[in-house]
Amino acid sequence: MDSRFQPENYGIGNWNVWYYPTGDLNAEYKRQLQGDMSHPWIFLSCPTMKSNEPGIAPRRHHVLEIATVCPYKPFEDLHKNNPKAYKAKKREVYQHIMDSVRDLIPDIDKYVRMKVYGTPTTSEFYLGQPQGNIYGAKLVPSQIGLNRLGYHTELPNLFFVGASAGYPSVPGVISNGMDLVELITGQPVRKKIKARQDLVAVE
Ligand SMILES: Cc1cc2nc3c(=O)[nH]c(=O)nc-3n(C[C@H](O)[C@H](O)[C@H](O)COP(=O)(O)OP(=O)(O)OC[C@H]3O[C@@H](n4cnc5c(N)ncnc54)[C@H](O)[C@@H]3O)c2cc1C
Repeated sequence: MDSRFQPENYGIGNWNVWYYPTGDLNAEYKRQLQGDMSHPWIFLSCPTMKSNEPGIAPRRHHVLEIATVCPYKPFEDLHKNNPKAYKAKKREVYQHIMDSVRDLIPDIDKYVRMKVYGTPTTSEFYLGQPQGNIYGAKLVPSQIGLNRLGYHTELPNLFFVGASAGYPSVPGVISNGMDLVELITGQPVRKKIKARQDLVAVE
């Protein structure tokens, strides 16, 4: 974003914004997964408000990260069979997403300096994420908790810790890694959290 863009002016800070235009989450998911991407719900986050570490963006500039849900198949078909139509579809969905962003940041267009947009096939191609998923294997009852893939593989010294192994998300996969260290070493690595749990138990 241009250096004049101030996230605070739009209520954006060190957190994620989940914006559902109608407030009916089930209906919005259903409609989008059937391919209607007009005025979609959006996840909006500003990584440069979450860390002062250099390298995320040029100094005094912010980055916005925006995502939503869409079906994989239409993009897969177009990507395989009709590159021109695939590119057109990608641009069309980008515009739909920006319609929703403008609800939150009405004058965003005057600040956008660089945009990078992707589809499920983009994530599949560049990141090897099957069907462009962002949270690993589907989080349906038959695949969560004890039914998740788990950390062990057929090879004794090879373990999984990614989103499909235990829980997805950034804290999810960090926690999977910590579980695994505990599993391998037999040593607790969550001392602070344990101490807090003890406090709760005492209370
Ligand atoms: C747009 C977006 C926004 C998100 N926002 C958030 C958020 O705000 N908070 C949150 O908690 N989570 C968020 N997530 C989810 C979170 O990023 C994932 O759940 C998490 O990164 C999964 O970690 P992972 O290690 O399983 O996979 P990844 O982080 O995808 O890591 C897998 C790595 O393996 C590499 N790889 C793949 N195939 C090969 C191969 N054959 N050889 C070598 N390397 C390979 C990939 O390049 C990649 O670096 C978001 C995801 C997306 C896509």
